[in-house]
Amino acid sequence: MKQVVIATKNKGKAKDFEAIFSPLGYEVVTMLDVAPEMEIDETGSTFEENAVLKAETLSKALGKIVIADDSGLEIDVLGGEPGVYSARYAGDHDDEANIEKVLEKLQGVPEENRTARFVCAIAISGPEFETKTVFGMCEGVILTEKRGSNGFGYDPIFYVPELGRTMAELTAEEKGAISHRGNAIRKLTKELENLLI
Ligand code: IMP
Repeated sequence: MKQVVIATKNKGKAKDFEAIFSPLGYEVVTMLDVAPEMEIDETGSTFEENAVLKAETLSKALGKIVIADDSGLEIDVLGGEPGVYSARYAGDHDDEANIEKVLEKLQGVPEENRTARFVCAIAISGPEFETKTVFGMCEGVILTEKRGSNGFGYDPIFYVPELGRTMAELTAEEKGAISHRGNAIRKLTKELENLLI
């Protein structure tokens, strides 16, 4: 069976991609399966650079089709922070500390100036085609306190005006339908037809 590798050690992430690739006859595996010892540092200054870096590094090492994503939160009044530093804004993958830091920085900022978006870049790289990148976004507003307990990361403070709820108040299905990652994955599906894989 043909294989596509997801450049992550997070099994949860691989599930979203499995939904696309299984029907196309590809087995989806992660770095845990094929390169557990490998570490790829996210040294890029944009989401796109990091996604391309991860996809190309692993594809060259394995000679297989590899997909990598990079995502994060951009807050307008903070000049796009935390951006590519979203996971390690206040502490490495410490969601609570990261949220606290954002809320502190936005103290006194009125609702109309608390606009933000989640961004996701996905790169696909393979031995037989040029690396391709797609993007997905989701617009929202940063609240002054947390609401909801689903999801992860900044979800409890990210309010989605069109749904009247925070990301953390959505089910996984509801989130996937409007999220940056869901939107990027839907674009990737369209691109796959052009890549003839
Ligand atoms: P990564 O793309 O897995 O490296 O995620 C980067 C960081 O961005 C995460 O650790 C979160 O802090 C934040 N982030 C990315 N996507 C989401 C999301 O869907 N909800 C909440 N936070 C997110």
